[in-house]
Amino acid sequence: MAKTINVAIVTSPGYTHLVPIIEFSKRLINHHPNFHVTCIVPSLGPPPESSKAYLETLPSNIHSILLPPISKDQLPQNVHPVFLIQLTSTLSLPSIHEVLKSLCSQAPLKALVVDVFAYKAVEFAKEFNALSYFYFPSSAMTLSLLAHAPKLDEEVSGEFKDLSEPIKFPGCVPIMGVDLPDPSQSRASEIYKHFLERAKAIVTADGVLINTFLEMEPGAVRALEEFGNGRFKLYPVGPITQKGSVNEVDESDKCLRWLDKQPPWSVLYVSFGSGGTLSQKQIDELALGLELSGQRFLWVLRAPNNSASAAYLEASKEEPLQFLPSGFLERTKEKGLVVASWAPQVQILGHSSVGGFLSHCGWNSTLESVQEGVPLITWPLFAEQRMTAVMLTDGLKVALRPKFNEDGIAEKEEIAKVIKCLLEGEEGAGMRGRMRNLRDSAANALKDGSSTQTLSQLANHWENFSGI
Ligand code: UDP
Repeated sequence: MAKTINVAIVTSPGYTHLVPIIEFSKRLINHHPNFHVTCIVPSLGPPPESSKAYLETLPSNIHSILLPPISKDQLPQNVHPVFLIQLTSTLSLPSIHEVLKSLCSQAPLKALVVDVFAYKAVEFAKEFNALSYFYFPSSAMTLSLLAHAPKLDEEVSGEFKDLSEPIKFPGCVPIMGVDLPDPSQSRASEIYKHFLERAKAIVTADGVLINTFLEMEPGAVRALEEFGNGRFKLYPVGPITQKGSVNEVDESDKCLRWLDKQPPWSVLYVSFGSGGTLSQKQIDELALGLELSGQRFLWVLRAPNNSASAAYLEASKEEPLQFLPSGFLERTKEKGLVVASWAPQVQILGHSSVGGFLSHCGWNSTLESVQEGVPLITWPLFAEQRMTAVMLTDGLKVALRPKFNEDGIAEKEEIAKVIKCLLEGEEGAGMRGRMRNLRDSAANALKDGSSTQTLSQLANHWENFSGI
């Protein structure tokens, strides 16, 4: 029997950071059954039910260890979720170390893979004689920003958002400073300091596993491979999503049954990820824009909040549908379905009636849309979502981006225009064609193409590694 190869992974808090790194572990053990993965899970407050339920479904050669949760009292109030995720990971370092020590006393560890927010844990690899890797749950374009951030920080004075010319990272589409991720928008802030620290840490590991695939971002992937004369090794192993391993849920019946009754490619699916929220004013405009477009829609609605990432770590308990404009549900009942807070996204995107996705451009949503060949309307809210929107619209040309007015609101006429253009227009048809090509490349990368080959190289490297 082949010898067991032990690998440990450290996740960071938040369901959408937990799932992709574990789905990666599943792929690893499916292709290389002699591997055993221990998944170390920090959490902010008690782990959410969704995370616990997900962890209970793991196969026997993935073992999860929930660390003692970090209490909210230990963290500052009213700060950006990115900062909370980062701090929770840092405060969990002693327990991460404890678990690694206990693991290594039983059997040698070949590799330690840590989510990029838990970057400080990567330093433990040396002590335990293991190879060290970051898991980067976003695009190669976003990783390019991190790779070049220390230099950018030296060369640019003032805020990036005030730069009049776009920034061009090697192999990537040019991007305006205002579209860079939240942590880089205010250079005097604490989250910028942590962002720079993460950026500097990236080159300290033996490699970076990234949830993208060569055919989607060839320029950025190739440029990163050459970055810094091989200072770090890049492993594009994506797209890794929950496709293929999601369970049916009650709400799925309602959404999918409704979709069954709609014509092919006719429905716009509208969702802002696991916690994105809109203001009341924006909910009103979006509702009226959907109505004005005359197109079919399936909208996952959350209660309003003026902070777009408010519900990311803690969901609101208010009933969302009460915040729709008066009479909207009645007037649109032949064309649309609105569901509260959550819907089975992967199955919805895979349904033949869905012809477009109005999305906040979270990386998981983006990859899920790519895997189903569904073109997008980009509506970025926070984190690196604006960067992804630029890549999808200007780079890959598989999405449309509505214009927002001076108050940051997309108005109903603008919304109706982009929806019609995506679902009815020639431009939309072109995008659908390009998205289908991307879907086929994604399937191929995972079948026996680039990402599967990369995974095999990595697994062989780990298998043959005999200690530092
Ligand atoms: N999701 C879902 N149903 C919903 C909203 C989100 O299944 O109603 C899933 C979606 O399929 C994706 C994840 O939640 O896998 C959202 O991740 P993403 O990276 O797009 O955004 P985030 O939640 O991190 O902002």
